[in-house]
Amino acid sequence: MFNGYICLLVRQNSKKDPATKQKQYIMRLISTTIIILTSLITFGQNKQVEELGKIYMSGDFDKTIIKANEFLINDPNNIDYKLLLGRALADKGDFNSAIPYLDFTVKNDQNNSWRKAWALGYLGTCHFMLQDYDNSRKSTKECFDLNATKNATRYAYKRILLFGFDDFYKDWKIVESDNFRFHFQNMSDSDIEKYISSREKAFENINEFFESKLPKKIDFFVWNSREDAKKLLKANLGFADPGFCIVHSHFQQTKGHEMTHVISNHATKMVKKTGLINEGTSVCFDQTNQDKEKIVKDWIITNNKKITIKEIWTNWKDYPEELTYPLSGLFVKELIDNFGREKFIEFFGNQTYDNAKLIFGVKLDKVIKDFENKINT
Ligand SMILES: [Zn+2]
Repeated sequence: MFNGYICLLVRQNSKKDPATKQKQYIMRLISTTIIILTSLITFGQNKQVEELGKIYMSGDFDKTIIKANEFLINDPNNIDYKLLLGRALADKGDFNSAIPYLDFTVKNDQNNSWRKAWALGYLGTCHFMLQDYDNSRKSTKECFDLNATKNATRYAYKRILLFGFDDFYKDWKIVESDNFRFHFQNMSDSDIEKYISSREKAFENINEFFESKLPKKIDFFVWNSREDAKKLLKANLGFADPGFCIVHSHFQQTKGHEMTHVISNHATKMVKKTGLINEGTSVCFDQTNQDKEKIVKDWIITNNKKITIKEIWTNWKDYPEELTYPLSGLFVKELIDNFGREKFIEFFGNQTYDNAKLIFGVKLDKVIKDFENKINT
């Protein structure tokens, strides 16, 4: 996201020498003075753009916003300041405020440079989050077509695929409901009706617990073919992008898993995710009646192994999903049953064992021990 900004550091001084035909000494003196002054001002501006770029790249968006506003007082039409201010606001989720600054950069970058490309890319994201899909598509595609810099073009292309702007989606059916904007690859009208009502019900059930307020409706892509998704998105179904409130799912997947990723991630400020807790939560709320305890116990017997929660918490990826998913769902349920909704959500933003210990206290280790004993026998 920040890579394109390296260009700032090699920006060239483009001020022109104010040529004069006067040969008199006094005029040469004035001219020389002007050149020196101009150079100093330009040098100062470059330094400031460089400084602002560095602050932005460090991820300190609040400071970027303060500094950009400060620099804009003396140089109100500077497209670098406007671009960085717009990007920082967008990165903070203030999409409405970001748009005028990004628009300014698009309209005033006469060179169609990487600045315009990034402004367009970010505009595409802002409009998407504000559910202005036409303008989102327009800006994102313009960014891609401009092909000004590899990273901005890649940024746009990722969104063209994820947001459903690729031509591949042109025949998909879009249907909006209370909490979703569904995109169906291929489904009959009567099945669509059933699908939507079951997902709305699942949403209500899940959010009764999380009480999340989503920034937008969930764009829910319902694929008919896993192979098509793999070919286009280079990813296995299903997956969620909570930041954009997007789900890409196969039509046969569980009602609740992917939408829980979106809903839960908006219940609190997310600091650190772990597989055990993040996946466990989505499994716990997947709205199926699957006997997860039996699945886990069968796995333990078949593989002749014992489960250690702390080990799986740390090394999630070292274990097969057929074990970790149902196991994590059971464990999250255990946490909620023992410590209650409020404590669980307080903990959820930082999903490490250390934070669990901090929030749940000394009782945590006993809960884990009892859980392991129950599962391992
Ligand atoms: Zn998941």
